[in-house]
Amino acid sequence: MELIPKEKVDGTVRGLKRKELDSGEVLVFDWEPKLAYAWDDGPAIARYLAELKNGRIIAKKCNKCHRVMIPPRMFCELCWRPSDDWVFVEDTGTINTFVISNVDWKAGRLDIEGGVRPFTPAVIEIDGASRGMGILHLIDDVDPQKIEIGMRVKAVWKPPEEREGSITDIRYFKPVE
Ligand SMILES: [Zn+2]
Repeated sequence: MELIPKEKVDGTVRGLKRKELDSGEVLVFDWEPKLAYAWDDGPAIARYLAELKNGRIIAKKCNKCHRVMIPPRMFCELCWRPSDDWVFVEDTGTINTFVISNVDWKAGRLDIEGGVRPFTPAVIEIDGASRGMGILHLIDDVDPQKIEIGMRVKAVWKPPEEREGSITDIRYFKPVE
């Protein structure tokens, strides 16, 4: 079924206009979706998120290979067995890799010439976790061109009353002087 006549599309992608919907040019029907759903974070991520709300980062240790894993997981994929102790790790770390992104989360172009700062997501190896264990987060409070692999960074937390048990309870990581 073709919803928009070809001559109106002209090879360009565009949004529908209210007039096209109201006039019946475009097929429309009403539907009430049943969007009730439940989400279970699981024991490892649930504890991780709860501790973020407390302003702490928690990891899980495997007592066989002695790795401290972040984000925590209930299972060591190397030893093929349940993981063991919960351990708190630092809110500091080292940039493992990063990117300077000129598009936003919706893949729209950022107005960099207009002064908008590019997004700079990074994988940060967290102090206290095993080497190579890291989380993805944003780097800020620094000129994007000065970000380097190996740079030392620290979490900038939301104030306690604004935290909600989410990875965004850490606003971003900033370089440690
Ligand atoms: Zn292990």
